[in-house]
Amino acid sequence: MSKPIIVNKFGGGILVKEFIPIMKKRIEEQTKKGYQSIAVVSAMPKVTDEILSFVNNLKENYDEKTIEAFISNLLNRHKQAALDIKISNPHLGKLETELEKILNKLENELKNTHKNSKSKASIVTSALEDKLVAYGEKLSAIIMTYYLNSNGILATEFLAEEIPIVTDNHFKNANIDYLVSAKNLNNKMKDIKSVVVIPGFTGITKDGEITTLGRGGTDTTACFIGAALQAEKIILWKDVGGVLSADPKIVKTAKTIPFISYLEAEEAGKIIHDKAIQYVKMYKTEIEIASIANPKLNTKIGEIKKPGKGAKIVSLKKDLNLLLITDETMKVNDLMLLVCESFKKHKVEMLLISNTRYSLQIVADKSDEIEKVYNDIKSKVEEIEMMKASMVFLVGNFEAKDVSNFNDLLVKLGTDLQISAFYFDNCKRIEAVIRTDNIEKVVNSLYKKFIK
Ligand code: ASP
Ligand code: MG
Repeated sequence: MSKPIIVNKFGGGILVKEFIPIMKKRIEEQTKKGYQSIAVVSAMPKVTDEILSFVNNLKENYDEKTIEAFISNLLNRHKQAALDIKISNPHLGKLETELEKILNKLENELKNTHKNSKSKASIVTSALEDKLVAYGEKLSAIIMTYYLNSNGILATEFLAEEIPIVTDNHFKNANIDYLVSAKNLNNKMKDIKSVVVIPGFTGITKDGEITTLGRGGTDTTACFIGAALQAEKIILWKDVGGVLSADPKIVKTAKTIPFISYLEAEEAGKIIHDKAIQYVKMYKTEIEIASIANPKLNTKIGEIKKPGKGAKIVSLKKDLNLLLITDETMKVNDLMLLVCESFKKHKVEMLLISNTRYSLQIVADKSDEIEKVYNDIKSKVEEIEMMKASMVFLVGNFEAKDVSNFNDLLVKLGTDLQISAFYFDNCKRIEAVIRTDNIEKVVNSLYKKFIK
């Protein structure tokens, strides 16, 4: 394994006929420059969601015919994808046989599950769900492998369970055993000269059960692989141009940011999967988020060399819920405990917490369960009020005066500022909870003041 390595992550959104030939081109460019390319792929669009919802409906209203129809739909779509990207014979014929084999296995697993679910109350465990949903990535990876080979690029597929990428048994959100898996991967890669294709999102426990790494987990696989092989870089390919300074639907002049630090990427959220970023941060692997169609449009993520000043990103979370909870008979500790239990019970995430002597202000993420949380707490405290709110935030590198400028502007814009928050030491993020119908104007004003 003497060549420098580039790990490419191809997400579900770009696994479409318009982009797959360009992926091949990117890999070709890398191999011509002397790199060893690794392609980590997600399932094709919608496939993960469809398998999940099918599996969860198995015990109710499905029969064998429904299962067969579901499988044949998946088979046809994947075969069509192979035709659309013009995989030639004899590769095409072999690929079709492989796809049929994989889906046959899935069909049998579904039929067995269905049969068993008639005799037992509930058979669809998280472990089973993982095993079934992992098929999505197996299908796309095999297509990618055949596509590369049919175009004269020698490619080998390694399933996560063949490497193996070993995880704990926290099904649906498993964690990779880094040291063991890194050793396995390095062994597996020894003497490999071809391009390697690896289905993302999946792993296997030490007892041999398939796991998944949490939704969006292909990032996690790619970053794990990049760190474990000490890759020169990891490229997360997108249909957009890197990380933008704001949502271009709101801010027309939003532009690609050339560089952000790992910490800034974490604070911004949604740029790289939370779990994935830990690996690259630890091993200082460089990441690039690049447009598949135009790789010059990219954002590099790495260790900060000389921290700049000011904001890089303006962002927004809409339709959140702000809960104001007061009880003068309770200490804030007890109030907090009660409130946390309720949020935990209904699996609603708290985004921000602030308090006064006898009250708590909590910003909760969007969730269908929020009414339950509200009613739960209402029955236990003196006063509770719930309202819609938005959160605006800046990501960058800030000083005290930025924080006051930020708040001043929000007040001036008449945003009904509710909570303003920042962590002072080494501040990467300033945020505020506001209530306004004209959020677009607020974001644009913030952009004008802090970025442009
Ligand atoms: N296919 C998986 C999901 O949709 C993993 C991924 O896309 O990264 O969550
Ligand atoms: Mg996906």
